[in-house]
Parts: sequence; C-alpha cells; structure tokens
Amino acid sequence: MKMTATAEIVRLCREIDETARDVYAKLSRVPCPEELSRFWAHMSEEEAEHIRFWERAEHAGDLTTIPDLVEDADEVIAELERTLVRSRELLDLIGEDCDVAASFTLAYRMEFYLLHPAFELLFRLLGPSAGDPNPADEYECHISEFIDMLRSYGSVTPELELLGETIQRLWRENKRLAASSARDDLTAVLDRRGFFALSTQLAHLAARTGSTLGVMMIDIDHFKSINDQHGHVTGDRVLRDIAGLLSSRLRASDTVGRYGGDEFVVLALPVIHGGTWAIAEAIRKAVEEASTHDIATTVSIGIAEAELGSDIQADFLRLIERADLALYEAKRNGRNRVSQHKPVLD
Ligand code: GH3
Ligand code: MG
Repeated sequence: MKMTATAEIVRLCREIDETARDVYAKLSRVPCPEELSRFWAHMSEEEAEHIRFWERAEHAGDLTTIPDLVEDADEVIAELERTLVRSRELLDLIGEDCDVAASFTLAYRMEFYLLHPAFELLFRLLGPSAGDPNPADEYECHISEFIDMLRSYGSVTPELELLGETIQRLWRENKRLAASSARDDLTAVLDRRGFFALSTQLAHLAARTGSTLGVMMIDIDHFKSINDQHGHVTGDRVLRDIAGLLSSRLRASDTVGRYGGDEFVVLALPVIHGGTWAIAEAIRKAVEEASTHDIATTVSIGIAEAELGSDIQADFLRLIERADLALYEAKRNGRNRVSQHKPVLD
C-alpha cells in the first residue's frame, strides 16, 4: 500500500531521532568532563524515548488511514530528508578528541534540526492516543535541558554563549508561531481552523479505537446586551473568562475552540455513552455560579454524541451540525440549559 505523507513524515522523524540518539551516545563516549558525558548519555536516552513514541505511532494502527496532517507535506518531507542527511553527516563528524565547544556545536546543530515544526505538530496530534506522558511536554523538557546545559557551559567560550541564546530564541519563536497560527488572539483557545485541524485528526484516531465522541456547542446568553450595557472591554473579558473556565474544567484530552463571536465548541474524547450531558451540565452550572450580580452570565449548550462510522469526516461534521441544532433548541426553550440532539430513527 502506498505510504501517506503522514506515515512518511513519521518514518523520517523516527530516523532523525535515531540519528540524534547515536550522535549523543557518541558524544558521551568522547573524553570530556564527567558531568557532560553523563548529560550526553541522558540526552541519548531521551531520544530513545522519542523513538519509542514514533515506533508506537507506526505500529499502533494504520497510519495510512490518517489524512495528511500538514498542508505542504511534500515540502516538509523534502526538508526532513535534507535534515536526515545532514544529521547523519554530523554523526560522522564526531571524532576521538572532540572538545567541549565542538561537542556543543555539534549538539546545537542536532537540536536545531529537531526544532522542525513537524515534530511538535505530530507529537501533539498523535500524542493523546498513546496513553503515556504527553510527548510534546517531554520534548519541550528535552530542549530546555539542552539550553540549560549549554548556558551553564556558555562561559567556556563566547561562541557557546551565543549558541545558547540563539537556540533559546529560535525555540521560543518556533513555539510562538506554532501556537499563534491556530489560536484565537482574544481567548487563547484554538480558533475555528485550529479546532478543525486538531479535532478531525482526533476523530480519525477515535474511529480507530471505536471511542464515543461528544460535541458541545456553547453560546453565551444575551451576550449582545452585556456588550451594550457594560461595553466591549467588559464583553471581551467575559469571553476570556468563559474560555478560561472551559479550558480549566475540561480534561487535557478534550479540545476547545472558539467557533466564532460568542460561540465555543468542545470535542470531548473519549466519553462514556451518555457522558457528554454531565460534562455540559457541569460547565453550564460553573458559568452560572461564576456569574456576578453585576454581570449575569449564563450559557446555553447543545450536545450530540456518537461513534463515527466509516465516513469519518462527514460523520464528524454531522455531529457538529447536530450539536448546533440542539443549541438552537436550548435557546428556544429559554436559555441557560443543556439540550441534546437525538437523531430521528427511521
Ligand atoms: P443569544 O442568547 O440568542 O445568543 O443572544 P446574543 O445576544 O448572545 O446573540 P447574538 O449572536 O445576537 O450576539 C452575539 C454578540 O457577540 C454580537 C457581537 O457584537 C458580539 N461579539 C462577537 N465577537 C465579539 C468579541 O470579540 N468581543 C465582544 N465584546 N463582543 C463580540
Ligand atoms: Mg449568544
């Protein structure tokens, strides 16, 4: 069967991390201060952990059923291939008598390649199904450890100090770009595009495991009059507060997005059959309780729940549509309530 771009990207990420593991293992055997040797050995072990993650992703299910995760897949593949060639060249460059500065320079170049946005994106998208510690967090920790060590040896030469600062800046910039491109500026939850990008992939993973998905459409009641009575700045604060409440109340495996205006969307995954109602009701109540006498804030929530069939994309969109219909029903029935859309059986 033809490999999808995603499967190809996962394979390349694994091969690059395998090279990184070997680079660090080789550095740990080069004569240098003991603390540093231990550190390189530790970095190598962490790479081994990343490799296990890719291997699990490759074996967990059929990656060929996942649609392409990145828009410019061919470009990403070409770049990762170049990265793989260069990192293998680095491995050959490590000699018997690599000094501290040279070893850091080599490791810096290795970490520089590992900053490729494809790694972070795939960690995020494939991570939730693994049931292990969040790989994106582990990866961030790995980079931070490297930066810390580089900085503590930074005084060895001015070049090292510069390397430390550069990689830290690159890492931050990379994260900022990755995060801001899919996030809503005002509320910091995913924007509509970001929500669909992430939740569609999660829906595919859920279909593989046969999990039930719950979708909630959450809309603030009479938000226009909050704006009218208290001004837009207060209205903005209410939007931020509700987004914050949603993020803090939901599990890490749930996905929150701003659907537009005063409407939010949540994908709860996995849920036990009938479980979405309880989650929605808890959210409705929490908003009501957080509401002040001054600014009465309530939400109406429409929910829909299902296992997805063979047409994952269409089924997922239908689930959202059903939750949206239920939201209108909640509004019609008086607001500040949860309503569930029940499919008409024929
Ligand atoms: P309902 O209970 O039927 O939902 O009534 P509503 O007033 O909430 O509904 P409507 O859709 O008419 O109003 C949504 C309002 O949200 C209108 C729009 O001005 C406001 N809005 C949309 N985006 C923003 C924003 O970013 N900031 C603020 N402050 N207001 C916004
Ligand atoms: Mg509203």
